[in-house]
This record gives sequence, structure tokens and C-alpha cells, in this order.
Amino acid sequence: MPYNHTKSSRRNTTSKNTDQNQRRLPLVKIWKNNFFALRLIWKAAPLYITYYFISSIVYSVVDFLSGTFLLRLIVNSVQRGFDSKRILIYIFVILSMNLFVNVINAFVSDIILAGSHSKIEAAIHQRMFKQAQQVELSCYENPEFYEKYVRAMEGANGHVLSVMYTLDGLIWRTINLLGNSLLIFTIDPIFIIFALIPLFLGFVKKKNNKLKHQYNVDSNPYKRRKAYIKRTFYLNEYAKELRQTNIYTRLIENLEENLDYFKKVHKRYCFKQAIYSLVIKVGTQIITILGATLYSIYHAIITKKILLGDCLVVISSIGDISSSLENFVSKLAEFHEHALYLEDVQCFLDYKPTISENSNGKKPFGGVLELKNVCFKYDGAEEYALTNINLTINPGERIALVGQNGSGKTTLIKLLLHLYEPTDGTITLNGLDWKEFNLKLWREQFSIVFQDFHNFPFTVAQNVLLCSSCQKDDSDIKKALKSSGILEKILSFDRGVDTVLTREFDDQGAVLSGGESQKIALARAFLQQDRPFVLLDEPSSALDPIAEHEMFENMMSVTEGRSVVFISHRLSSVINADCIYLLEHGKIVESGKHSDLILKNGKYADMFQKQAEKYTTL
Ligand code: ADP
Repeated sequence: MPYNHTKSSRRNTTSKNTDQNQRRLPLVKIWKNNFFALRLIWKAAPLYITYYFISSIVYSVVDFLSGTFLLRLIVNSVQRGFDSKRILIYIFVILSMNLFVNVINAFVSDIILAGSHSKIEAAIHQRMFKQAQQVELSCYENPEFYEKYVRAMEGANGHVLSVMYTLDGLIWRTINLLGNSLLIFTIDPIFIIFALIPLFLGFVKKKNNKLKHQYNVDSNPYKRRKAYIKRTFYLNEYAKELRQTNIYTRLIENLEENLDYFKKVHKRYCFKQAIYSLVIKVGTQIITILGATLYSIYHAIITKKILLGDCLVVISSIGDISSSLENFVSKLAEFHEHALYLEDVQCFLDYKPTISENSNGKKPFGGVLELKNVCFKYDGAEEYALTNINLTINPGERIALVGQNGSGKTTLIKLLLHLYEPTDGTITLNGLDWKEFNLKLWREQFSIVFQDFHNFPFTVAQNVLLCSSCQKDDSDIKKALKSSGILEKILSFDRGVDTVLTREFDDQGAVLSGGESQKIALARAFLQQDRPFVLLDEPSSALDPIAEHEMFENMMSVTEGRSVVFISHRLSSVINADCIYLLEHGKIVESGKHSDLILKNGKYADMFQKQAEKYTTL
């Protein structure tokens, strides 16, 4: 079921968790969710799951035969005076079966199907990651979605596989229960009463499991905050601020607050949990096991109504029956628990992004990109980030976006990439609404360098090639690196363009400065000559003034013929743009060529003057 993505769904995390706690899934949903998990496993490793359940049945039958059943057979045969040869044959047959099953299991599960587990995990990961790539950015800003998303990502593997284990446990318990119950029923039907007590205890256990689930859900914010604080202390990217600011004190304070929160959660549940555990223990250990044991000893020794072998069977199997019954119900309850977690996984996987992929949509081919009366408000925000934006990008044009921080420049770039849906207005390409185009192909029209760009722990060449669908050779990569001004540095490394970036995956990896990393990201955009649009969000933010000047010069020639939209705070770099748009509070307040805007002597001219003065007075 898709998430409700409206503003009203934005509520605080704690109240949402409470909602989740109180959620009781209907039976149909429980089975649907669990089947969904089994289907995922079946698709990834059909042989494994088939073998797993067949072996589970065979194993539990053999286990029963070689346990209580064999014990009864031996003791009663001795008491009835059967000859020892016959008893030895029984023992031999049952133990041979046991050995055979174990040998087969070792061979099949440990050799033939050894890799199946990782295969299943990989298949689940792949589905999750594929969906993670498709959900729109606003999902990350919706706390309800994000909370479920994180839970699904963290728990998917464990809970999908747990369904298989629970079902396995259920098969095992059922066979064990049927076998042992039949045995004690044939001895004296009264024993069934003792055995039934755990059935009621199973319901207590079910309640206990639900409580545990609620406890886990409520502890989630604690775990998440704790994980963040831990990350802050060990990740390289925080190391400088950690030493330079008072973030240490803040984080420690937060850790303490977090601990207080956890104590409250713990307090809320611990008393109930203790009571449930006590009831379960007293019920099984004292009433069932001790009661049935004393009853059977009484009839074996005093009234002599049952054989000694049968008495031993009761003593040995009543514990089994009681735990099987108790576990039988709690195993059923586990399906409810899995279903709750799988609901998150399923909701996440079933979520249909509001920005649809439109796989049958048209293939875009560049041309005139137009924003008509575009307004945009972030989910949950009070103010519009963009209001009535009208902007045309003609083929080969260089458009500069300028304006103070928070004026909406990056938001505009994100809208062009269709990462968000405009709240109002339209975006067209050659007069066609963007919804008519295939989303993937739409995005593939753009080369982009984000303000918060990322390089990845792969080789320089792979990083440059990241977004390129066409075949490129080393000379293309080097040309792009040259244009972004980093080629010389890269060639100074022993492995040249095959040098791995960062030391995450490679001890010999190159660690680049912020500006150098930005040049790699720029090279990526420069290489994609086949993409008609180039979007550069502060592409020189980490560059020194000389590198910045060279970068803009190169950018102009490398992107010749392509439409470029770039954001820059240094107005000296926007002078040559075909059109400059000045944004203020999400609105275009001035637009035109540099010379026209200077003549106009408005806000842009004022900003330009102030920046120029700064440089000339230096
Ligand atoms: P600029 O790029 O001009 O600095 P942005 O486009 O990043 O500005 O932001 C425009 C406005 O939108 C700002 O007020 C900012 O606080 C708000 N904003 C940006 N991103 C988000 C977001 N993910 N959620 C809510 N508000 C946002």
C-alpha cells in the first residue's frame, strides 16, 4: 500500500511509533506478508528452500524416532522379555536412519547449497537498493516514510529469512508434538491435560512477543541517535569539527538525553515483561512438568497401572510436549511479528513513486527547456521555495543563476532533474510536458555537478565514467580531466587514471583535497558530451581563484553547443552568460545579460559593484 504522502502524514516520530505498536494486522495480511517473504526466498534460491523444508520434515521424524520412541521401545521390550536380538535390530535401524539423514544433510547443505544464504541476502538487497534508487527525494524528508525506509533497510534480510526459520521450527514442533502426544495418549489420555497447559501459556508468550516488538519499535529512535553519535566519533568527515568545535559536549549531552529516553522506554515495558516471563516459567516448569512426572511415577510404582518404560516416556516427553506446544503458539505469533516488520519492507518495495518512471514515455532529445509559472514548496515547509518561475533555456545557451543563500537556486536545479514535482506550473521540453518523457532518459539528458558532490572509492577513470552510457577510452577521460584541471595531479600517481580514490576499499588509495575532488566531479560532467544539458551547482565552491578562472574558461569551451545552467556566487564568473537570473526569496527579481543588468542599475548591479569593490580594495 503506498504511503500517504500528504502533509498531514508528517507527525512526530514518537506518536508514529505508538501507532505502529497498536497496529494489529488482520490474519490475511499476516499470511500475505509471510508468503511475500517466502516468495522472495523462492525466487532467489528455489532449490535451497525446497531442500530446507523437506529436510526439516525428515529430520524431525528421525529425531522423534531416535529419542523418546526408541527409549520406550527398549525399556518396554526389556520389561516384556523380548529377546535382545530384536531390540538390537530396532536400535540398529533407527540409528542407521539417523546417520543417513545426517550424512545427506552435511553433504547437501554444507557443500552443494552452501552459498544459498548469501544468494538470498544478495537478492533481497538488490530489490531494496533498486527501489531506494527510485523513490523521490521528498521521501527522505518525510519522517514517516524515512522511519519505515530505515527499518525496512535494516531489517529486511533478517526478517525475510526468519520467516523460513519460523516455518521450519513450526514443522519441527508439529511433528514432535504429534509423535509425543500420540505416545502419551496411548499410555494414559489424562496426560494430555498436563500437556495442554502450555497451550494457554503460548498465548501469554504471544503477548510477550508483541510487547518485545513494541519495545524494539520504541527503542528505535534511541538506537538511531546512538548510531549517529557513534558515527560522528569515528568517521573521518567529522574529525575536524569534533576537534575544533564544542560538538563533543553537545553530543555527550545528547547521548545522556538519549539514555534517559531509553530508560523511560525500558521502564514502560520491563515490569510487564517480567510478569509474563514468570507466568510462563511457573506454568511450564511447575504445573506441567512436575505435575505429570509425579502423576506417572505414582501410577508406575504405587498403582502399577503403567509400565516403567511408559513412565520414562512420560517423564522424557512431557517437557518436549510442553515446550513444543508453548513454542507452537509462539511460533504462530512470530509470524505476526515478522508480518509487522515485513509490512515495512513490503510497503517500501510496493511504494509507487509519485514521480513515475514512465518507462513507455518518450525519449527526450534536448531542445528548448521551459519552466512556466513553476512554484514549489517542500513537503512540510511553511514557505514556497520557488514562486512563479518563468525561465527558458535555449539550445547552447549559458544560463547563470545568482542570488543569496536560500533564494531557491539549488531547488530549481533539482526540479529540472525531476527529483521533485512542482507544486504548481509546468516544465516542458520543446513544448511537451515532462511527464510525457521516460524519467530515466529525462535525467540522462543532464550532466550535473552537485554542490555536495560525491566521489566514490573506485578508480579515477571509473569515477569520471560514472554517468556515461557511451563507450569512452582513456584519451577521452584524460581530456575531461585536463579540462577540469586535475590531469597533471592524476598522472603523477603510479597508477594514473587507475588510481583508486579514498582508502575505503584500497590501502594505497589517493586522498584528494576538496578542490581536487571537485575537479574529478567536474570531469565527469565534461565527459558527457552526448548530454544536451549541463547543470553546475556552485562548481567552483572548493576551487582557488586561479583554478576557478581556468575552470570557467574551460567549461565554456568544453560545453560548446550544450545548454548550461550554472550557479555561482562569484559574479565575475557569470559575466559571459547569455542570461543571468537573480533570485530572491524564491522569485526571479531580475534577468538579462550582464551588460543590461548593469545598465539597469538594480539589485544585480549593486551586488556586482560590492563584489568588485572587495577585489579592487584588496
Ligand atoms: P539556494 O540554493 O539558493 O541556497 P535552496 O534552493 O537550497 O537555496 O533553498 C531554498 C529554500 O528551500 C531555503 O529556504 C531552504 O531552507 C529550503 N529548503 C531547501 N531544501 C529543503 C528541504 N529538503 N526541505 C525543506 N526545505 C528546504
